[in-house]
Amino acid sequence: MIHGFNLGVSALLNERFPWLKTEENVSLARRTTIGCGGTVAVSASPSDAEEASELLAYLLGSGIPYAFLGAGANTLPQDEDIDGVLIRTDRLTALLMGGNCIFAGAGVTGGALCRFARGHGVGGFEPFTGIPMTVGGAVTMNAGVPGWHISDVVIRVLAVQNGKIRSFPLEMCAFGEKKSVFQEGIFVVGALFRAEPASKERIAANTARYRERRKSLPKGRSMGCTFVNPEGRSAGELIESCGLKGFREGGAHVSEVHANFIINEGGTAADVAALIGRVRGEVLAKTGISLREEIRRLTFDVHT
Ligand SMILES: Cc1cc2nc3c(=O)[nH]c(=O)nc-3n(C[C@H](O)[C@H](O)[C@H](O)COP(=O)(O)OP(=O)(O)OC[C@H]3O[C@@H](n4cnc5c(N)ncnc54)[C@H](O)[C@@H]3O)c2cc1C
Repeated sequence: MIHGFNLGVSALLNERFPWLKTEENVSLARRTTIGCGGTVAVSASPSDAEEASELLAYLLGSGIPYAFLGAGANTLPQDEDIDGVLIRTDRLTALLMGGNCIFAGAGVTGGALCRFARGHGVGGFEPFTGIPMTVGGAVTMNAGVPGWHISDVVIRVLAVQNGKIRSFPLEMCAFGEKKSVFQEGIFVVGALFRAEPASKERIAANTARYRERRKSLPKGRSMGCTFVNPEGRSAGELIESCGLKGFREGGAHVSEVHANFIINEGGTAADVAALIGRVRGEVLAKTGISLREEIRRLTFDVHT
């Protein structure tokens, strides 16, 4: 079934958009940090906003299901093979400095952004040190560390909504705790950031501090924190207080190091999803607190 689909859509995309980089039978296990999931029929990688808008307008008009993926570090795929198009950002890698701003394409990694800022004597990006991410995923998730989020440095975001290129000033991004307006099917093409000059010594000291903090995080395949911290509480501490460290479903278990991390050792996406459901259920039953998922499920919708 998937074979028939990928030949059809892949050929259609290549004929209509000869400039578009496509790949068939894309393994989600290889493209996500949790390391599970089936294949997607086709992935497509636009290289600028115009290409992205033409592609998305076409997919919308044709009723072809699609989804977006960056570094796959906060994403839980599904095990089933999917008849859809995975829109990737690996060619959106522009990095420009002008005046007091940095523009970064959606596919720029956290490491590349930190190096670029450091190289231009710009501070404020050090909290990204060691976070597995692309700019597109981080903007969509409002990624950050306690006390600092990407929304603290965003000026505006270039995106495609309903097949049209749009620029979202900060106040229209609806940034919140691990959320933004871009979670509503809006494709991030890149973002403009505030660039504050800082001394090399200060940037180096901050980078070392953030790198050191991350050493205590669990090793292994995960999606980072599974749940958002409820107001004034730590999701990890709540899970631990319910005695769930080490709790297991198939090949997935709650980390012994940090209870908000789920580690996958050869399990399926269904194992991970079942474990998330059981943890949430236990915490609700024992504490009355309903945990909200931070991680994002990869769903291929027909957008209209
Ligand atoms: C070991 C580990 C440690 C982590 N530590 C942290 C941390 O300290 N702080 C933190 O905030 N997070 C952390 N995370 C989670 C993750 O790194 C961040 O959420 C990061 O921003 C995800 O970026 P990504 O490119 O991998 O997004 P993906 O997982 O690829 O995507 C995340 C969501 O955004 C959507 N998306 C991706 N790209 C686009 C786009 N261009 N336009 C629109 N939607 C898009 C996807 O469809 C998905 O819904 C950690 C994860 C791991 C595995």
